[in-house]
Amino acid sequence: MTKGPPLFNRLALIGVGLIGSSLARAARAQGIVRSITATAKSEATRARATELGLADQVVETNAAAVEGADLVIVCVPVGQCGKVAQEIGPHLKSGAIVSDVGSVKGSVFRDMAPHLPPTVHFIPAHPVAGTENSGPDAGFAELFVDRWCILTPPADGETGAVERLAAFWRALGANVETMSTDHHDLVLAITSHVPHLIAYTIVGTADELREVTRSEVLKFSAGGFRDFTRIAASDPTMWRDVFLTNKEAVLEMLGTFSEDLSKLTRAIRRGDGNALFEQFSRTRAIRRGIVQIGQDLAAPDFGRPHPGLPETPIPRPYATDGE
Ligand code: NAP
Repeated sequence: MTKGPPLFNRLALIGVGLIGSSLARAARAQGIVRSITATAKSEATRARATELGLADQVVETNAAAVEGADLVIVCVPVGQCGKVAQEIGPHLKSGAIVSDVGSVKGSVFRDMAPHLPPTVHFIPAHPVAGTENSGPDAGFAELFVDRWCILTPPADGETGAVERLAAFWRALGANVETMSTDHHDLVLAITSHVPHLIAYTIVGTADELREVTRSEVLKFSAGGFRDFTRIAASDPTMWRDVFLTNKEAVLEMLGTFSEDLSKLTRAIRRGDGNALFEQFSRTRAIRRGIVQIGQDLAAPDFGRPHPGLPETPIPRPYATDGE
């Protein structure tokens, strides 16, 4: 990644949690905007953003944040996007690009578009990068490096504006792909939303069984369960909104998942080792494909370093799940 001249004069960030604060840090590090104005819902988060020096100005309202901005990125839970659009609509600069980072695209488009003036370019986006942490302290500049950012511009979106937003994300290290909002929501339902639901379920089930399992669930958590607990620690507000707003696609994918789970259940019940072996071989190949295209590391997860042993130099995967 080479630094170039700034792509935008003023970037406005509405919300400075994990994603917003990572954007602030990355845009600064790459010098791709001349100034950053940021805001958040609570006084506490705004104060923390000021302390961390995330922006040139931290302002109190969403309306004030977008004044004079030529790129506005809404980084709030998807359920808040419509309200934010309503607040910023009348204050947007003509010709500005308005975007977001929400994990669901259809509902964001439906909720925001009616409040935005025709003089701005509205291009929803979703960086498929994240961690289970939230808030302004959780962000880091490298979050988007080698991750995908999906843009879902409307069919009549101006190509020049889409290309400018794509250039912004590429400058932060992301790969950019464009697709329709519906297609995005279907693909992400199976790659991210359903897996999160499974993690939330299995950790909840184990917790309900704690009388039976006692502390052993935690003690032996390296056996696959630990990865689920990390995903199940993801932000409750964000994920509540994802399931409320991507209901159709998630239900469709859950239906398919349940059928496949039933097939495996039957194979176990009937002692059908061939069926199990075939399925596990197929999924192992999928995992290897993901490593091959650089979306995760081949290195095994060794857990915590042992105090007496030299630390194994394993490069850190920047964003292991995200959505
Ligand atoms: P987060 O860490 O919880 O941060 C959310 C931010 O939004 C906070 O600064 C919050 O302010 C602010 N906010 C909430 N409602 C607001 C409102 N009405 N007006 C102004 N600011 C408001 O969340 P996040 O993980 O960054 O997620 C943000 C978005 O990114 C979500 O739409 C999510 O779907 C998407 N996303 C998340 C991930 C991930 O892995 N986390 C990955 C990709 C995309 P307060 O702190 O004051 O409440």
